[in-house]
Amino acid sequence: LVSRKKHPDNTVVDLKGVMMGDGQQRLVMGPCAVESYEQVLTVAKALKERGIKLLRGGAFKPRTSPYDFQGLGLEGLQILKKVADELDMVVISEIVSPADIETALDYVDVIQIGARNMQNFELLKTAGAVDKPVLLKRGLSATIQEFIHAAEYIVAKGNNNLMLCERGIRTYETATRNTLDISAVPILKQETHLPVLVDVTHSTGRRDLLLPTAKAAFAIGADAVMAEVHPDPAVALSDSAQQMDIPQFNKFVDDLLASGLYKG
Ligand code: PEP
Ligand code: MN
Repeated sequence: LVSRKKHPDNTVVDLKGVMMGDGQQRLVMGPCAVESYEQVLTVAKALKERGIKLLRGGAFKPRTSPYDFQGLGLEGLQILKKVADELDMVVISEIVSPADIETALDYVDVIQIGARNMQNFELLKTAGAVDKPVLLKRGLSATIQEFIHAAEYIVAKGNNNLMLCERGIRTYETATRNTLDISAVPILKQETHLPVLVDVTHSTGRRDLLLPTAKAAFAIGADAVMAEVHPDPAVALSDSAQQMDIPQFNKFVDDLLASGLYKG
């Protein structure tokens, strides 16, 4: 069902009026984790000023260590919805349990399935059975073929509003947090008809690489780039090393526009 051979036309996903996959480049931005209403509002206002409506933020955080901040859960979803209603934004947030999908429908505009859950087949099936766009991230050590099979699980349940996100894979390289597999973008575009995003924050884990990798993503045909923005990354409860502050975010957008690879 996700194969380009069987369905040659691009899937365009309508995110409350923001199209994904229509040939225009998009940015999906926001904090790693929802920490407070004020935090999300500050970031959302900055995004809005640059015409960015796709607001990401984690309420359920799948952390490597059980002692790290696990997210605000339902309260986090409520904060995202409140800000989105006030500023007319589109909320993208990760759901980690099939039991939370139903609840999430009232709060999020896009259900994100994270790298660690790419092969959580019960979660894929549950997200595939609801009427809500899904953003599926590539697993930490998943091949492109496994990624495509995971996507198939969702569409097989009837949900065609699916987007794929390359977010870096595990390799022996330690200079970056993960290794951005940039050629996954054209491969996924050739093999499937789905929109393809590149998450530059989690693939690199390095603030200094966000701009060059975002340029590469757009140059190679990504429909959107995801990156994290926090009012004060130094005190962020997660991903402190790679989130941009607001001035850095504005410079990131300026530089992308100046490159001509992102049209705004
Ligand atoms: C995220 O986008 O918040 C996230 C945790 O990313 P990933 O699942 O790609 O690690
Ligand atoms: Mn993060």
